[in-house]
Amino acid sequence: MIDVSDISQFLYCPRKIYFMKVLGIRMSKPKMEFGRDVHEEMYAKFKRRKSLKSYDILENVYLESERYHLKGFVDLILKSENEIIPVDIKFTRFDEIYYNWRMQIVAYAVLVEENFGIIVKRALIYNADKKEWREVEIFPEDRKMLKKIVESIEDIVANERIPPKTESKKCNYCEMQKIC
Ligand code: SF4
Repeated sequence: MIDVSDISQFLYCPRKIYFMKVLGIRMSKPKMEFGRDVHEEMYAKFKRRKSLKSYDILENVYLESERYHLKGFVDLILKSENEIIPVDIKFTRFDEIYYNWRMQIVAYAVLVEENFGIIVKRALIYNADKKEWREVEIFPEDRKMLKKIVESIEDIVANERIPPKTESKKCNYCEMQKIC
């Protein structure tokens, strides 16, 4: 199964998937470790929020989707009688929702749909730095695009196919640069 975080990595650069999933190279960034450490404190704050009182709040929920061949931990799931909303928490300062983040939250949406049997119409990205919520509408074409991305990742892994270099500014921020 493909991990939801692989979606974001693939959209950053497909070649990263080859290094990570075919060669098994993992390089975690300190920022990501920091994110995990403060999640617990964040959950406690969400539970105290008045605006979320009408929702059951599920934290760090592991889900799998047979249909999409996906697995991953959803940071938060807000559950009411009529609606279920996946939430992704970002610790990076941002002003816009990048496409890779959008597709990542679409992946969380399909995980929630398959496991809770309800269509997800919207998801939320929480900007921990600015303490802001951003809503993301989920459309049928997002699900189709997600399926294509998963198939492309599976193709790289199954055929041990190394995608061409990106040769862009992205390489300067890529943890695989030294071995690429
Ligand atoms: S260094 Fe550049 S080409 Fe290589 S994996 Fe990273 S982004 Fe892709």
